[in-house]
Amino acid sequence: MTEENHGINLTFDAADEYRPEAPPPPEIPAWKNGSTRIGIHTSIAGDLSGALEIAHALGANALQIFSSSPRMWVRGPSRISEADATRFRERRKALGLGPLVIHDNYLINLASPNPVLRTRSVQAFHQEIVRALALGADFLVAHPGCCMESGADAAVASIANGLKQATRGLKLDGLEILLENTAGQGTSMGSKFEELRAVLDASDLPLGVCIDTAHTFAAGWDIRTAEGLDRTLQAIDSTIGLERVRVVHVNDSKTHLGSRVDRHEHIGKGRIGLESFGRILNHPQLAGRAFILETPIDKPGDDRRNVAALWKLRGVVIPVNGARDGMKPRRKKKSKVRAHGNVSRRKTAVKSSPRASARRKSRGK
Ligand SMILES: [Zn+2]
Ligand SMILES: [Zn+2]
Repeated sequence: MTEENHGINLTFDAADEYRPEAPPPPEIPAWKNGSTRIGIHTSIAGDLSGALEIAHALGANALQIFSSSPRMWVRGPSRISEADATRFRERRKALGLGPLVIHDNYLINLASPNPVLRTRSVQAFHQEIVRALALGADFLVAHPGCCMESGADAAVASIANGLKQATRGLKLDGLEILLENTAGQGTSMGSKFEELRAVLDASDLPLGVCIDTAHTFAAGWDIRTAEGLDRTLQAIDSTIGLERVRVVHVNDSKTHLGSRVDRHEHIGKGRIGLESFGRILNHPQLAGRAFILETPIDKPGDDRRNVAALWKLRGVVIPVNGARDGMKPRRKKKSKVRAHGNVSRRKTAVKSSPRASARRKSRGK
């Protein structure tokens, strides 16, 4: 400041006028900075925040979880306590993990023509949204459901309506619901991109889409070659619109092209192959998407190896040594059939701890 400015100045300065403070701009999550986001479905067995530690320790910077047991109907409200939710949000922020994707319960079927099952599904999906909001999730991935005997058209209306009922009274507040494409097993909806589009059109919610590589391949899209991948992305773009694809589930496939059977395999060990995943992870039309693994864990360290494999395809080398901090392998079923066809089930059941079974249940698909 110079000497002259110390004099008293009584002239009106517009800058001194009182103005109410403008509201702060909405905080843009750090993960939306355009950086590569690679995540893995991690277990919440025991502790929700533990999933964050696992993902971080594995070298992931994004993650997917179930917010409750994925193969059980939760009785009564299954809210997450304020304290647990706060701890989770703070830890997630500190670790810089994002996006946070929540996968819905496998039993939910909004397409069901059975009124009891449908009502239960709507209630359960409502609870999914409540928990996703509590945890500050970015995306909630939902399987469209199985139409059973009702047919695709009725199912589309049922899903759109079910989503509307499930969101009633809730402010989505940045949470985006994503419909996942499926392998087309049985009467499951969503193996055709047109079916997903029909639900998007029938719904007044801002829905997005999650594309699963193994499901896409099993549904008949040959993403193994550069031309095949381009054709597939073009088909997605002309039906759904690629901008609505927010998350890619990156899984290799145990089953062959068009098998309509959903079996995930380690990256590069299945029928899609490593080279194809290199093209998927670096495709300009998929830039900015979160790539989330839902690969099996057969041996300790499989989770870490799959995360490292995706990073490597993006030109980043992370250590793969040491299986510490990762998830425990799924126990192999000991279904020894004896000479008289006697299956020693009981022994297996006794040996399997509740923790191990919870871990098995909470592993992603
Ligand atoms: Zn998936
Ligand atoms: Zn899924």
